[in-house]
Amino acid sequence: MRELTATAFANEPMTDFGLEENRTAFVEAIALVRSELGREYPLHIAGRAVHTPDQILSLNPAKSSEVVGKVSKASRELAEQAMNAALTAFESWKKVSVKERAACLMEAAALMRERKHYFSAWLVIESGKNWAEADADTAEAIDFMDYYAREMVKLAETNEHKPLVKLPGEDNQLTYIPLGVGIVIPPWNFPLAICAGMATASIVAGNTVILKPASTTPIIAYKFYELMVEAGMPADVIQYLPGSGAEIGDYLTSHPKTRFVSFTGSKEIGLRINRLAAEQAPGQIWMKRVVAEMGGKDGIVVDETADIAAAADAIVASAFGFQGQKCSAGSRAVVVAGVYDELVEKVKERTSKLVMGSPEENAAVGPVIDKSSFDKIMQAIETGKSEGRLLIGGNKGLDGGYFIEPTVFVDAGPDDYLMQEEIFGPVLAIAKAEDWQDAIRIYNHTEFGLTGAFFSADEDRIQTALQEMHCGNLYINRKCTGALVGVHPFGGFNMSGTDSKAGGHDYMLLFTQAKLTSRRTV
Ligand code: NAP
Repeated sequence: MRELTATAFANEPMTDFGLEENRTAFVEAIALVRSELGREYPLHIAGRAVHTPDQILSLNPAKSSEVVGKVSKASRELAEQAMNAALTAFESWKKVSVKERAACLMEAAALMRERKHYFSAWLVIESGKNWAEADADTAEAIDFMDYYAREMVKLAETNEHKPLVKLPGEDNQLTYIPLGVGIVIPPWNFPLAICAGMATASIVAGNTVILKPASTTPIIAYKFYELMVEAGMPADVIQYLPGSGAEIGDYLTSHPKTRFVSFTGSKEIGLRINRLAAEQAPGQIWMKRVVAEMGGKDGIVVDETADIAAAADAIVASAFGFQGQKCSAGSRAVVVAGVYDELVEKVKERTSKLVMGSPEENAAVGPVIDKSSFDKIMQAIETGKSEGRLLIGGNKGLDGGYFIEPTVFVDAGPDDYLMQEEIFGPVLAIAKAEDWQDAIRIYNHTEFGLTGAFFSADEDRIQTALQEMHCGNLYINRKCTGALVGVHPFGGFNMSGTDSKAGGHDYMLLFTQAKLTSRRTV
């Protein structure tokens, strides 16, 4: 197993696809993944492969008739078996030293680094990300594993670094111990990074988990599970359990032996999990902990002193990166009247240049994830037509996959559906504000509070924006997507979730409980 290195944490660099050798390597990785399409994947319970007759079909969103793979699908009975396996594994895993658990994450990070393009190529084909988006997802997964390994080791050394107040005659120690069995439920939009981040933070703390991947991206989660076992994690520490969220999700959330749920996904499901987890099931002896990172209606505010070209670049990148399917996507822009027309024109020009095509060929605009998302987004566009003025886009895109044109509405009203609902697709709404204070008011007029950005050259206004714009991740004069592990700890306010600040120093506290021991020495 790889030891924790003496070097400080550093973010995994993004691949420079301007270099021929990197492009060639990526094309080869896609070909390798293509040669593996259509395979069958079992569940893993207590380290054993379990094949079920009922299967989840993973489809390529860019070629919806293409089967990426077939994945076994858990029933409630299998979910119960997974719980029992996780409970048994917890008894031994919690006794493994923090250093050993951390070394396992470091090894997994190192292996993923070596096979970076292979993982990214799976993301391209299973989730429809273009090369840069897939590369960033894989880099973030590597970062999470590396970072949480180090953070857990630091937490285990708390008494050295943050000693308690001394009391003569006593030896007092604070120790961070694991919670128990956690249910880890990632979304499909960062199917590697968020899956790996939530699962490895849980296990490095000494917990065992049931990993229920999103039903649209179960294979990339399988690849992650395989990697962890290869890296030295005992195979029963994670139960790999794809299945219907509605069926096994509710069952596991309500289970009396579930100690915590780590969820990232929509507001609706996050609130449901929070509600179900709050009930005490017969035989349950603890309050379940819920870590829920949910949706957003993120936005960029632009005043008349701002660099309008830079603001337009940021608005388009934030709105349409990965087809607007990021929780941090800037689906709103609020622009002061004085520069409104100029900015709208620049956004239109930049949007019109975005080329739609296959993620495998690295097109800027790819498909949305599946048929149900496609239908929901097209419906939202129809609703939008009765609210704002359609500036560009608004139609379905290429045939054969779930493509939608990057779409911009202007003159949206603060209360409009377009400005309030998380559409989670390539749809941007722009609203006009009287002045910069009005723009901040409009920005804050939402139940969400995940990311935001303020564009201005005026320092006093920037100071006010820093105070007033109410969101978990606020950026000044830059786009509102692209948080980096350790640099921009990530999590939202209000209906965006429990503000867990993934990739931050406090994250490990969510997966541990502190035990104080006090021993008389005289
Ligand atoms: P989703 O529909 O809420 O699904 C998320 C996960 O929950 C999936 O694994 C899903 O399984 C599962 N699930 C569904 N019903 C469940 C239930 N009753 N009990 C337990 N689990 C259940 O969200 P999504 O469409 O995958 O992801 C997009 C959403 O995630 C957006 O709202 C986005 O903003 C949010 N997100 C937030 C963050 C953040 O950090 N705040 C990051 C990324 C994404 P199935 O696939 O089987 O339904």
